Amino acid sequence: MVTRDTMQAVFLLGPGELAFREIPIPRPQADEIVLKIGATLTCGTDLKAFRRGHPKWPPPTRFGHEYAGTVVARGARVATVREGDEVMLVPTGPCGECYYCQRQQENLCTTLMETYVLGGYAEYLTVPARVTRTNLLPKPPTLSFIEAAFLEPLSCVIFALQQTTLRPDDTAVVIGAGGFGLLHIVALRALGVERVYAVARNPQRARAAHDVGAYGIIPYAAEDARQAVLDLTDGRGADIVVECTAQPRVWEESLRLARPGGQVILFGGCPAGTTASFDTYRLHYDQIRVLSPFHLTPKAVRHAYDLLGAGKIPVARFISGIYTLAQLPLALDLLQRGEGIKYAVIPGEQ
Ligand SMILES: [Zn+2]
Ligand SMILES: [Zn+2]
Repeated sequence: MVTRDTMQAVFLLGPGELAFREIPIPRPQADEIVLKIGATLTCGTDLKAFRRGHPKWPPPTRFGHEYAGTVVARGARVATVREGDEVMLVPTGPCGECYYCQRQQENLCTTLMETYVLGGYAEYLTVPARVTRTNLLPKPPTLSFIEAAFLEPLSCVIFALQQTTLRPDDTAVVIGAGGFGLLHIVALRALGVERVYAVARNPQRARAAHDVGAYGIIPYAAEDARQAVLDLTDGRGADIVVECTAQPRVWEESLRLARPGGQVILFGGCPAGTTASFDTYRLHYDQIRVLSPFHLTPKAVRHAYDLLGAGKIPVARFISGIYTLAQLPLALDLLQRGEGIKYAVIPGEQ
């Protein structure tokens, strides 16, 4: 099915420096597949890596990690998919053998991050066996490639919410209305929680939170947010608080918004070396449950896949624009200026 020998791929050479290179189209080893990318989504992590580098992705490196596509070649030992299959996947797969994998904590698999499949910003991508055997699934015809590419970020959100106990009459507060904040809003709604409030500073983001179905918007300002949450909950505080800003100061504030016995998800990963402190009295005597989920597990991927396939997550609303591969710098520039939520990149045949 592949008629050319080379393809366009984007490389990150260092902070703020991208290169478009013509490289050989990969051929699969025995247990690999090669995917023709249907769509790749920009993510906050891409922007962070572009701006200041990523500790786990030393340059020069391919990048782009939220993608879906069509199988165009498979190795001799691959029996689970065929050429022409449209698939959705996440960029990691557990080894299945380490201490953590044995305990169903595959998100902490010791070789997970070093085998991360980067390179969605390209026409083709090689996917190894560890991903194809656990975290690659058929794309239902009802989903576009752009919608299917939401599997990875949505799986991270579902993994976080799987750590909680949810009730339909809960009041949830999501702090931050970027891509992950908005995904938490729609996921909480899909899991039956109706009263999901968004704490948002930027008016454009507040509008986006409203558009994806937030029950109400709380303007961001530390004291006011706490008072607003108390007012909305008969003085108790929220049943569930989800922090999606990746700022230690906001991690600290999150606990102040929770009710006694409430649950706090610290979702946004802060820079290495930062610390946060909490009121120990509140944490203990108010029995606040603090969770800090990282990444995803195969179980979360299945659940996210089912929700996407059932049309329960209106992800198309998150897309602020669709660009070609050559226009990736433009999309990153818009994100850098705080414009838009997520952009889709569709590598065309050129
Ligand atoms: Zn991402
Ligand atoms: Zn493992």
